[in-house]
Parts: sequence; C-alpha cells; structure tokens
Amino acid sequence: MMDEKAREEVRAALVEAIGEGKVMWRPADLAPYTKDTYRIRFEDDFKFFPDFVVLPETTADVQGIVRIASARKIPLIPKGGGSSRTGMLVPIHGGIVVDTIKMTKVLEVSIPNLYVTCQPGITLKELDEKLKERGVSLNQEQGSLKIATVGGSISTSGFSRKHQKYGAISDRVMSLEVVLADGRVLRTGPKVLYTSTGYRLSQLFIGAEGTLGIITEATLRVEPIPEAKDAVLAFYEDFWAANEAAQKTMGSGVTFTGGEAFGVESAEEYGGPREKKAIFYLGLEGTRGEVEAELAFVTELVKATGGVLAPNDAARKFMERYTIQWCGARVATGFEDPLTTYVPMERIAEFYDKLYNEIMPKYDTGPLPGEKYSLDFGRYRMAAGRYFIPKGEQGWEKYQMMLREIAQLATGLGGSISSCHGVGIEHRDNLELEYSEVALDAMRSIKEAFDPDNIMNPGKKLPEKKRA
Ligand SMILES: Cc1cc2nc3c(=O)[nH]c(=O)nc-3n(C[C@H](O)[C@H](O)[C@H](O)COP(=O)(O)OP(=O)(O)OC[C@H]3O[C@@H](n4cnc5c(N)ncnc54)[C@H](O)[C@@H]3O)c2cc1C
Repeated sequence: MMDEKAREEVRAALVEAIGEGKVMWRPADLAPYTKDTYRIRFEDDFKFFPDFVVLPETTADVQGIVRIASARKIPLIPKGGGSSRTGMLVPIHGGIVVDTIKMTKVLEVSIPNLYVTCQPGITLKELDEKLKERGVSLNQEQGSLKIATVGGSISTSGFSRKHQKYGAISDRVMSLEVVLADGRVLRTGPKVLYTSTGYRLSQLFIGAEGTLGIITEATLRVEPIPEAKDAVLAFYEDFWAANEAAQKTMGSGVTFTGGEAFGVESAEEYGGPREKKAIFYLGLEGTRGEVEAELAFVTELVKATGGVLAPNDAARKFMERYTIQWCGARVATGFEDPLTTYVPMERIAEFYDKLYNEIMPKYDTGPLPGEKYSLDFGRYRMAAGRYFIPKGEQGWEKYQMMLREIAQLATGLGGSISSCHGVGIEHRDNLELEYSEVALDAMRSIKEAFDPDNIMNPGKKLPEKKRA
C-alpha cells in the first residue's frame, strides 16, 4: 500500500495521463473493486482495496497508465466484467485496477475473412448482437455472456456452451494487441487463423489472467449464422442413463453444438414425466439438410438408450433458454461453489462416487438439491455441480482442504482442476498437482520475461516457487 504522499503523486500523474474523469480514488468508488464473485473469507470482506481504479478508453490511455505503474512498480489488475469465480480480481497487493468498461468499440468486421476486431471491454452478448446484424456470430455462449467481456473471457480461457461445433474462445483468437508491463505495445501476429511462422504469442495470453499484459484489442474468428437450428431434449431414469446416452452420442460422430446431461429432482419441471430424474440436451446447427438428418439420427439414439423424448417445440424452447438459464440460475450466493472439473469421459462415475461418498462427507457438506450431477459434454467436458461451502468453526480451512482433495481426485483421474474458471487465488496452490515443477518453472520463466517486476496481477495463477 502507498503512503499519502506517493498516492497523491500517482493520482496527479494518472489524471495528467488520461484525464480526471477516468481516475477513481475515493474509498466509496473503490469498494466495488475489492473482490469478484469468488467467496473470499468473511473476515476478509472489504479488506483488499485497490489504490486506484482507472477507466481507459484507448490503447494510448492504457499505455499511459502502465508506464506510470511500471516506473513505480505498482501492481496492475486488468478487469473486464468482474465475473471471475476464482479471485483473479482481488487486489491482494493493492495497486491500480484497470477497468476496461469504456473499451467497447467494434473496430472492424471482415465478412470475407470472417473475423471481428474489437476492444476488450465489450461483453460477449453485446458483441454477438452487433455481429448478428452483419449475418455472423462469435458463438461464445458462456453462462455469463451478459457480463463476461472479450478480454476477460480470453484471459480466463472461457468455455462456451457450443464448444463441440465452434470451439472455445481459445480457438477463436487470431491476433491480439497487448500493452506489456513496460508500456510497449505488442501485436502478437497477423490477423490470420493459421500461420506456421512465429511462436504462437496469442496463445500465451489465453488464460493468462492478466498476469502477462493488458489486452487492448482482439481479432476473433466468426462464423456465418447457420441456415437451420434444432434441439433434442429427452428424459432419463437417472443421471447415469443420461450419461450413457452422452457417451454414445460422443462415439457416434454426430456433429452437435453442445450437449449436457444432468440430474434433477424430477423431470416434471422440464415438462417430462415426474419419475424421470435426468435431462439430456443436444443442440444442432447447420444447413437444413444436415440438421434434419442429425435430428433423425439422435432421435433414434435416444430411443435406443431408453430415453423419453420431449416434444420438438419444448426442445427448441429449452435451446433458447439454455445459456441464459445458466446465468440466471447460477449466480453466486456466497454460500455455494461451482465445480468445473475436467474429467475424462470414462471416469465420470468414479469422480462423482469419490466426491460425494468420500470427500464431501469428511467436511460435513454436500451438493445443492438437484445439482449433484451435471456433465457438459463435447469437444471439452466439464463435470459440474454445485455444493455448499463448509460452514461452522474452521469452515474456511475445511473448504481449502476439500478443494485440495477435489484437485487431487480430478488430476489423479487424468483430468484438470478447472476447465473454465481459471486459477486465480482459489486454485493457485493446487496447481502443483496438475503440473510438474519443470512445467511450473517454464511458466515462471515466461512470466519473468514479460513482467520482470511482477506488477501484472501479482499473486494470481502461479504458485510461489518451492525452496530447496
Ligand atoms: C453465473 C456465472 C456463470 C459463468 N459461466 C461461465 C461459462 O459458462 N463459461 C466460462 O468460461 N466461464 C463462466 N463463468 C466464469 C466467468 O464468467 C468467466 O471466467 C468470464 O470469461 C470472465 O470474464 P470477465 O469479463 O467477467 O472477466 P473478469 O472477471 O473481469 O476478469 C477475469 C480475468 O481476466 C483478466 N482480464 C480481464 N480483462 C483483461 C484484459 N483486457 N487484458 C488482460 N487481462 C484481462 C483479469 O485480470 C482476470 O484475471 C461464469 C461466472 C458466473 C458468475
């Protein structure tokens, strides 16, 4: 934290560089920037204040801010929509939060080359609405699409509900402009999807959590809006029967946008029979002929696996609500936490069995009603669910021990701790379970090369080096 004299000097420098209206320093203005949607310890609420929040509009503004911070070794925390679930935005060392809320311009839409270039602070929803006016789409329907920004999604390596057909944001990035920790502007490469020339610099910033630089412009691949869309919604006996159908769908080679199998208390709330306790959903998009053929194929697959099909109009209605439903229903309450573990398809049963029968009972907790099993399947796969954060005496310590055991389980099964919510501070000290010390050292070397003074979002993502 800065003393008063240094603070005033930095405030004056920031105001001179970008203008008074874009610099905030009063405690009431800083309070909303003390955390993100990660449940920090109750006693730490409003403990970590940034020294300043700045609202740049241009790359030149960001450069001005970074030069001031770089000269004085002040931490910088880039911010998008603030929907991080792992504490990436908590200013644990104070510093300057660079809120990109005013960087929302769409700079170029190239229809022949199928790309968009935009500033990082535009939300995924707003960008897609603008793209749809031009007949194309980014197809990055995250549950948080109303608030998540392009910069935040790239920096977290976001996961779309249509990942099977269109990939995740990491598959969309063609080129980035980034302000580095010393204030230089880096262009990662030409605006092309494939090249076999330089190192793939863009990829370094995917999932970097603001620890390597501040993205000020992104060029992303878009796709033409498909001629037809349809969906399959079916009800199964239980999650395991729906999971079986998901496995068969994956093995059939049918091209779907995204799919999900999840357990419910009763399928009645989805228009299904009361006694069925699982939902199977699949989205389809393409030319009319493709979609008709795929719909017929999946319909047969559902019947063959014992599923009860919902009427087609109910399936389509579900498709329209699918992404939004996630966002609305799953807002953080502070008492629950989501699982976003990547688990190999054939080990899902083992994962849930150990999680609910061995790990959670030890910490006197368990899943939220109706949220026990959920598999987002396709090119990427996420075993999801929500559970109550352990309460009572030493609740926080229990929570940390439980997170470590879940991390051990996921990595032990050959999966990953976090399929789309990144690392932040929540998973930082468990990263050693997923990566060897050699791999972590390689990551530290990259960090050191880009940010030798460790001013870019310090204390996030990478665990401290182990001392001999
Ligand atoms: C209800 C809910 C549903 C969710 N559903 C999904 C989902 O379906 N899929 C998914 O992937 N995630 C999901 N998330 C998690 C979260 O929304 C994503 O991680 C999202 O992509 C973060 O975007 P943001 O703009 O809010 O980023 P922020 O939370 O503001 O920031 C995230 C990280 O990116 C860095 N950052 C932000 N902007 C920049 C920039 N311009 N340059 C460099 N670094 C930057 C920040 O420093 C931080 O480390 C969900 C979260 C919630 C609360």
